Amino acid sequence: MSVPYKIQASEDLLVGGKAGGKASEKIPVIARPFVSDRAKKTLDIIEKFVEEECIPADTVYAQQIGSGVQERFASHPAVIEDLKKRAKELGLWNMFLPRNHFKEGAGFSNLEYGLMAEYLGKSGTASEACNCSAPDTGNMEVLAKYGTQAHKDRWLKPLLEGKIRSAFLMTEPDVASSDATNIGLTMHKEGNDWILNGSKWWSSGAGDKRCEIYIVMGKSDPQNSNVYRQQSVILVPHDTPGITIHRMLSVFGFDDAPHGHGHITFNNVRVPDSNMVLGAGRGFEVIQGRLGPGRIHHAMRSVGAAERALEYTIARLNDPRKKPFGKLLSEHGVMLTRVAEARCEIDAARLTVCNAAIMIDTKDAKFALKEIAEAKIFVPKVLMKVLDEAIQAYGGAGVSQETPLAKMWASGRTMRIVDGPDEVHLIQMGRNENKRGKFCLEKIEWQKEKAKEMARAYGLEVRDVLQLDRQPSKSKL
Ligand SMILES: Cc1cc2nc3c(=O)[nH]c(=O)nc-3n(C[C@H](O)[C@H](O)[C@H](O)COP(=O)(O)OP(=O)(O)OC[C@H]3O[C@@H](n4cnc5c(N)ncnc54)[C@H](O)[C@@H]3O)c2cc1C
Repeated sequence: MSVPYKIQASEDLLVGGKAGGKASEKIPVIARPFVSDRAKKTLDIIEKFVEEECIPADTVYAQQIGSGVQERFASHPAVIEDLKKRAKELGLWNMFLPRNHFKEGAGFSNLEYGLMAEYLGKSGTASEACNCSAPDTGNMEVLAKYGTQAHKDRWLKPLLEGKIRSAFLMTEPDVASSDATNIGLTMHKEGNDWILNGSKWWSSGAGDKRCEIYIVMGKSDPQNSNVYRQQSVILVPHDTPGITIHRMLSVFGFDDAPHGHGHITFNNVRVPDSNMVLGAGRGFEVIQGRLGPGRIHHAMRSVGAAERALEYTIARLNDPRKKPFGKLLSEHGVMLTRVAEARCEIDAARLTVCNAAIMIDTKDAKFALKEIAEAKIFVPKVLMKVLDEAIQAYGGAGVSQETPLAKMWASGRTMRIVDGPDEVHLIQMGRNENKRGKFCLEKIEWQKEKAKEMARAYGLEVRDVLQLDRQPSKSKL
């Protein structure tokens, strides 16, 4: 074993037994027929790896990062490399690349990986340990799906090996980026090169010293009459002259080091045309292709985070040292109702993600747009509610560094914004639902007419069920 610690957990304590069954036994009934025996076995290994190695390693990782912005964004905690070695030994590597689209991955379906991502979402280190962390996952999908052989050799290969990291640069400080037609970073062609000027922020992962490649969206053809053909996506090596990482952005005060979220400027950055992804003017195609399965990965990790928050709640409810008004929290009825509500909502959230994953696996991501949007919108709301109740159960400790809940709340809250804010998905879903407007109206009118016709066939005249037909008359008293 490469990780230098010895404490072994009893099988009964962390997985299986008292934990309510192993991961493979907790797969929702409707999803079971779609999960292979190999995936079930892997799921059990992941559960054990996350509970026994990654979650304890989270604390070590936080300490190994160090202090001060320069140190934190230059650090590479040793514990993560040990976890990566361990994950490889256990066969837990690159599970995210779905088998029906990519030969490079571990050969699982979106559903199978979704179930695994739930466990990864319980720990801050588990996703990177298994080379399954965002934004690298989405970026590797872009390179695997649209990259040339040269792109794959130079960047996909080391990414798949976990040797380098990557960032995706779309969002800009000066425009409303939830509408990507606004993206303004300019791209001018000069000979065989593109010259990039502009600025980006929320470039997640750019703080990491190992981040070698930026996937950048810019405006290459601003005059094109089709606003969805004005953008391109190009691969920019991180050390290209003209790039400056000005600062890192915080998330409710957390810096997410060493990964972080960069604010970056491009000043006459020169990139060869051969770095263009898919071709000039096809940026929208690339970003849309990137986000389908990625959204359900986020959602499923959020289900795992919600499960962990519920475990914390239950632990606090049964802590014998802390008895407000002479009783355990679990003896105060309101707390048990909250636990029960959380159980219902987490289970519903998991089903929503499984449904989207099965839809992607059996059809494709385009066909599953509604189901993906449902998961993207619904799950973070459940996570926020469960976390909020968990924090409440801990009182002051809940908002502090005493538990992981405050940090989990900060990360969870961003899920309603990242990959497009909720409103964008809701409006699209609402519009699609509303397409049935004429049909719903006509059907209901038709059903009313049909009711009258049926009533006549029974010799009745249709009347309101509460029809009174009473005429006011003077009292005879
Ligand atoms: C932690 C974190 C990590 C991120 N990582 C990345 C990354 O790696 N790469 C990257 O490119 N970006 C990243 N982002 C940026 C993220 O994708 C954007 O913040 C998001 O797309 C919204 O864009 P915006 O911030 O420009 O908000 P705006 O577009 O200005 O929107 C602001 C608000 O307007 C409202 N709104 C928007 N559209 C509508 C509408 N149609 N109807 C009604 N209301 C609407 C919403 O409430 C929205 O929150 C990250 C963000 C966070 C917080």
